[in-house]
Amino acid sequence: MSPGLLSVDEALEQLLASAKPVAEIEEVPALEASGRILARSQRSTMDVPPMDNSAMDGYAVRLADGLKLRISQKIMAGSVGSALEPGSAARIFTGAPIPPGADAVVMQEHCTATGTDLVINKEIKKGEWIRRAASDIRKGGEILSAGKRLLPQDTGLAASVGIKTLPVYRKVRLGLFFTGDELVMPGEPLAPGRIYNSNRFTLRGLAEAFGCELRDYGIVPDSLEATRRVLRRAAAECDVVVTSGGVSVGDADFVKPAVEAEGRLLMWKIAMKPGRPLAFGKVQESFFIGLPGNPVSSFVTFLIFVRPFLLKTQGLLETNPRSIMARADFDWPEPDARREFLRVKWNQQGGLDLYPTQDSAVLTSTAWADGLLDNPAAKAIRNGDTVRFLPYSELYR
Ligand code: AMP
Ligand code: MG
Repeated sequence: MSPGLLSVDEALEQLLASAKPVAEIEEVPALEASGRILARSQRSTMDVPPMDNSAMDGYAVRLADGLKLRISQKIMAGSVGSALEPGSAARIFTGAPIPPGADAVVMQEHCTATGTDLVINKEIKKGEWIRRAASDIRKGGEILSAGKRLLPQDTGLAASVGIKTLPVYRKVRLGLFFTGDELVMPGEPLAPGRIYNSNRFTLRGLAEAFGCELRDYGIVPDSLEATRRVLRRAAAECDVVVTSGGVSVGDADFVKPAVEAEGRLLMWKIAMKPGRPLAFGKVQESFFIGLPGNPVSSFVTFLIFVRPFLLKTQGLLETNPRSIMARADFDWPEPDARREFLRVKWNQQGGLDLYPTQDSAVLTSTAWADGLLDNPAAKAIRNGDTVRFLPYSELYR
């Protein structure tokens, strides 16, 4: 690797060593907990199902009584039947409790009922179509582990054992601002030399996808005073402050001196493409991550560095994105000396296609792609090679 450059993994390790889950835990209604990070593992205070019940609409029977029976009762879900009289069957519906004495349920499709007479047209097995008490969850058993993002089905599972509220970490407050005198917002006139602030849209969307509470400080002019002022305010209000642009060492790059004046800063040159300059620091109690201004670079560095940092700060235990080994349906004969994150897309043959322009100013590549190909430094790719693919679907979790 080139001297003076930090590897992606070294930078990640240093970043994550600083990240700690937010201290505050909130008790929120389980109905509103989907998407939040569970702060304490949850156990069940009951058996699920609480009693033996029917898995089918049919008849509850006792095997020893044979195949010709009298229908003596009807048990609906939500009601309780009485003990099965000898020689009788109970009409029963899905979810209804099995009456004492019954040892199987016969599907209605295998029965002929005439008035109260029942004939079973099939051999039956003991225990058939009975869901046993506690077969899903045992009282005292762990149902949800701490440090996971709650999915809709997790809140359903909690509700199924009567849990009304769940302890979750407070949302991470993420401050964003965008440096550059050239930036204007869509809707404003685009004077010569100006560009639209596309990073604001990309980075805000990412912050929301990761469940942050967002504070957007907008566009900050290229001046040391303006940058310091916003930085002070953002640091006071947020857990993490992320910026785009101004981290190179050009005349208009004020992020570095501003962070140094307000706190502490590490400037990293990272052996990755796109990317390279990344600033990491601390201002007051808040962490600071300065991303490059290039739209593709800020998108990729957000996914590779800010994402795991935010997830760990949120209290998630698993911060590594899961990758898939996939087939490259293209040649990449002249790889960069740095680790590359190439914009690629699934094709109809189940392989990956490469976006023709991998220039870090071409935002189109990120919108076209289905994810990033994580290519080791200086590794040429030949058509048909197996490569590591980071799909957006995994990076956006
Ligand atoms: P910088 O890192 O400030 O030197 O910016 C690098 C490149 O990214 C320049 O071409 C900037 O115009 C562009 N750029 C910086 N910030 C943004 C932004 N918020 N949206 C779109 N492009 C940007
Ligand atoms: Mg700039």
